Amino acid sequence: MKQLIDKLNITQTLEKDEFIYLLDHFTGRESEYLFEKAREKAHLYYDCDIYIRGLIEFSNYCKNDCYYCGIRRSNSLAQRYRLSKEEILACCDEGYHLGFRTFVLQGGEDRFYTQELFCDIIKNIRRNHPDCAITLSIGERSYEEYQAYFDAGANRFLLRHETAGEKHYQKLHPPKLSQQNRIRCLQDLKRIGFQVGTGFMVESPYQTTADLAEDLLFIQELNPQMVGIGPFITHKDTPFAQFPSGSLKKTLFLIGLIRLMLPAALIPATTALGTVDPLGREAGILAGANVVMPNLSPVSQRKKYALYDNKICTGDEAAQCIQCLKRRMNKIGYEITVARGDSKNINRNKERR
Ligand code: SAH
Repeated sequence: MKQLIDKLNITQTLEKDEFIYLLDHFTGRESEYLFEKAREKAHLYYDCDIYIRGLIEFSNYCKNDCYYCGIRRSNSLAQRYRLSKEEILACCDEGYHLGFRTFVLQGGEDRFYTQELFCDIIKNIRRNHPDCAITLSIGERSYEEYQAYFDAGANRFLLRHETAGEKHYQKLHPPKLSQQNRIRCLQDLKRIGFQVGTGFMVESPYQTTADLAEDLLFIQELNPQMVGIGPFITHKDTPFAQFPSGSLKKTLFLIGLIRLMLPAALIPATTALGTVDPLGREAGILAGANVVMPNLSPVSQRKKYALYDNKICTGDEAAQCIQCLKRRMNKIGYEITVARGDSKNINRNKERR
């Protein structure tokens, strides 16, 4: 098995069967070996620097009905909220003072925010903080709409593909949503020139090892600037309430594999990772991740952006979160940096900016 890890480390790819073999058979020993190699690769590109992104969860209204997600349209128990333009801009100002140089606007697919309103918000952030990167995570849109956001000043876009298995995709989503359209969106975003992040949930219901191998091969082909993965976590008011959450172990192993496959990519240690284990984010960094995304949303609304149960950091002020993360990263020998933190895995489709 170590030979396969060495092969991946050198060639940056494996056959589908080889990924499946690794994922089905790895033990603690192989994990440690993989993480060591993954850390070496991460240090080569990013040293011991950890980039931070200020996450602003601007709305939990959503027109979609993904079976795994706590803010799905059909969850009538979700308490809905939206942030106004002024509130979003205030979050950015606070974040800037705390040392954030990237703002991530994430939300449900909420048509209250028209193209015009989003463009206005983006232009304002761009004007107020010209040295910052603006990341959108607002789901599936048309080419034209993505282009308008890029032209307004957005630089990056996060859109997880969720699963590369075609049949599996249909088990996680209602018939209205198609994998084909999600992939079309990712290709459009790349073509327009966004720095693109994709990713998937680990051990979501009905996922097979073959699906995970497909995820890795899909990511290899797309060659994104960022790859965000996290364990699936049960939400009690969704159709998947009876399914168990994914494991820390499997997620970490996948982070290690992704680091060897795309050595220069940005890989976050996600909130979901910190939710399944109190030291999950530290473990993610030690498995090859190099980004954390603390929450900048107003504390009064935090709990309502409940994609899954028991989400961490929903009670603390942003300033507390950043202090806590600084301590946690220092403890394991890493340093949070004040920087835009662009990916060193460049989108060659277009000149970045
Ligand atoms: N509407 C945006 C943002 C989605 S929320 C979009 O469509 O891209 C961000 C991510 O949270 C999702 O892409 C999904 O991978 C993850 N997520 C949602 N529900 C989850 C759950 N129950 N467990 C773990 N991750 C979840």
